Amino acid sequence: MRFTFWEDFLALVFPKTCANCKRSLFDFEKTLCKACIARLPITNYHLQPQHNDLVIKVMGLTKPGLVMSFLRFTKKGVSQQLLHQLKYKNKPEIGLELGSIYGQLLSVHGFKDHWDVIVAVPLHPQKMRRRGYNQSEQFGRGIAETMEIPFEQLLVRTMYTETQTKKSRLERIENVAAVFKVAKSHATSGLRVLLVDDVMTTGATLAACANTLHESGVAQVDMAVIAAGRY
Ligand SMILES: [Zn+2]
Repeated sequence: MRFTFWEDFLALVFPKTCANCKRSLFDFEKTLCKACIARLPITNYHLQPQHNDLVIKVMGLTKPGLVMSFLRFTKKGVSQQLLHQLKYKNKPEIGLELGSIYGQLLSVHGFKDHWDVIVAVPLHPQKMRRRGYNQSEQFGRGIAETMEIPFEQLLVRTMYTETQTKKSRLERIENVAAVFKVAKSHATSGLRVLLVDDVMTTGATLAACANTLHESGVAQVDMAVIAAGRY
């Protein structure tokens, strides 16, 4: 059953607008208009997932698998705008849609049978309560749905990490090292995992999660983020 009247009424009062350019959306568009989707700064990491600057970033911090970023991060560009709304403007649907577009891209490029499960870097429960959702999980669920791979939150965050911005690279790495645990209810042995996060800066958080997963017997941890670079 469709509540057409109610939907039309809402659309009249609050027309849905593109999360990037603010133009009114057509019925078939979800959170981004077609023009903005076509202009997303999509990277080529999926074409060389084993040999790129992001792999080099996590090398030495964890056993590196494939490491990819969906979008190129540019200051004041589309990716920054979308990440800002996803994290701070109560727009979880942006994460879902970006994940869904990325899932299609990865499927086309032969990653369909590459992973058994998709896992997101968990938020601290306090932050989760404040925001109401985990933005990385939204991205992961979008990928999972499109690629028909289960999403399972295998990881939990155990300690609050102090703000990272004033710390050195080494301090940051130490700071996150002991923060993640595998949730007790999950069997992880032999799994091939795609670990997702919203952004990658130093790679320390993703590496800490990957190490926790490896210690629990996971066979392979690959990584994908919405955007990489300075944020
Ligand atoms: Zn737009």
